[in-house]
Amino acid sequence: VSRERLVVIGADAGGMTSASQARKRRGAESLEIVALDRGRYASYSACGIPYWIGGLVGSVDALLARTVDEFRKQDIEVRLRQEAVGLDLDAGVVTVHDHETGGDYALGFDQLVLGTGAVPVRPDIAGFDAPGVYGVQTLDDGEAVRAAVAADGASRAVVVGGGYIGLEMAEAFVERGLEVTVVEAAPQPMSTLDPDVGALVAEAVRDLGITLHSDEQVTEIRTGAGGEAIGVVTAEREIPADVVVLGLGVRPNTALARDAGVKIGVTGGIVTDKRMRTASHRNVWAAGDCVQTVNRVSSVPVHVPLGTHANKQGRVVGINIGGGYATFPGVVGTAVTRVCSLEVARTGLREAEAEQAGLRFVSTLTESTTRAGYFPGARPITIKMIAEKRSGRLLGAQIVGEEGAAKRIDVLATAIWNEMTVEEVSGLDLSYAPPFAPVWDPVLIAARRSWDAVELDVRADYTPQP
Ligand SMILES: Cc1cc2nc3c(=O)[nH]c(=O)nc-3n(C[C@H](O)[C@H](O)[C@H](O)COP(=O)(O)OP(=O)(O)OC[C@H]3O[C@@H](n4cnc5c(N)ncnc54)[C@H](O)[C@@H]3O)c2cc1C
Repeated sequence: VSRERLVVIGADAGGMTSASQARKRRGAESLEIVALDRGRYASYSACGIPYWIGGLVGSVDALLARTVDEFRKQDIEVRLRQEAVGLDLDAGVVTVHDHETGGDYALGFDQLVLGTGAVPVRPDIAGFDAPGVYGVQTLDDGEAVRAAVAADGASRAVVVGGGYIGLEMAEAFVERGLEVTVVEAAPQPMSTLDPDVGALVAEAVRDLGITLHSDEQVTEIRTGAGGEAIGVVTAEREIPADVVVLGLGVRPNTALARDAGVKIGVTGGIVTDKRMRTASHRNVWAAGDCVQTVNRVSSVPVHVPLGTHANKQGRVVGINIGGGYATFPGVVGTAVTRVCSLEVARTGLREAEAEQAGLRFVSTLTESTTRAGYFPGARPITIKMIAEKRSGRLLGAQIVGEEGAAKRIDVLATAIWNEMTVEEVSGLDLSYAPPFAPVWDPVLIAARRSWDAVELDVRADYTPQP
């Protein structure tokens, strides 16, 4: 058997899961595996960065899932500070820039995995590339932000953009005792939620002592004598800052793939088939934040840069390269986050997405508590449900609440995945005991209310108009 070489570009969730899974199925005698990363770390949890900066996680080592040595023991060679700068897919060659020596070299491959992740959106506005304006995408970024927070006199942080990463960073800065301001261009933070739910988040964020300026666009980053960021300017005000962090979302990092002729989709992500093989090249695979996937509810192509998908897609790639058979089934848009004591979760379609998909729906907002009302620690929970008109199929759900609220989204994600109606959800056999839920779980109450609304709507449709 001739030995093949698998080259993995990007040594984190998507890339290294691919490598490990391929290795499980093919020994070193048939498959050599070389993984490249331009950064100084491999296989890390980017999701843990805000908790490391905030001090909840003590050291960077805790965020490393597996070390380069551990990979070596599996016969996977990880080369750090090695950046893929060119790709010739027909010849099967990657050009690698070695950041240690400054030189370039060619590396041939038989199979290639693109796991290049995403890059933070950095608007083309004066000052956004100044020192002191940080993205938080890699551990190297995290280290830079930690150093900035620890610097003498650092007391004011401004987060530009109120997405979930921006809000997690706001929490981290609160934990570090900084004065925190979040500037968001939209009327509400967290554009992945409907505005009425976003408004609940805004209210709770302000209650936590974070200053939130929504409906305000950043027009400039003010720089000091040394060119470093010293403040954030909007049409309304100038906010002095010792640390500025980008929370404007990310876009797929696909320049290398695009230049090599790999097919890119409408979302900017790499197009693959269900086995995560690129649409353009049979021996080129892709996984993680650099790919486009499909939303199972709307059937629309989407870019959902989440670690949960990167790991699953990497597993699919590795199984297939290893000679097995696996597919990635798409997503329903489930996500969860926490800002201090506030828990926020969503799944399925929000109203605007349902409208774009041409679906008609009925929305309800239901308030309840996370435990029996009399039980110590019962906290408020609000659930929004979006059900399809007539059929009552659950299309989407959003949850805002305190401890015990957010993970209830998983029941609703499962219901959406299985195309259940809200009537079916209202009858589910969910667990009950006072420390965990009221006798009617908030999910059941919300589903019941949603089903009532669907029925009323159907009746209204059939009532002759005078
Ligand atoms: C602050 C933060 C919090 C998050 N929280 C959550 C969460 O709670 N839940 C969740 O599901 N997801 C979360 N995510 C998202 C999650 O971290 C990503 O979806 C996941 O890391 C994607 O994995 P990936 O392997 O596709 O890309 P990445 O983790 O971005 O890894 C890509 C790697 O490729 C390397 N690379 C890029 N280009 C090249 C090149 N040309 N040559 C060599 N190397 C290259 C990069 O250095 C990087 O190490 C969070 C992300 C961040 C930043």
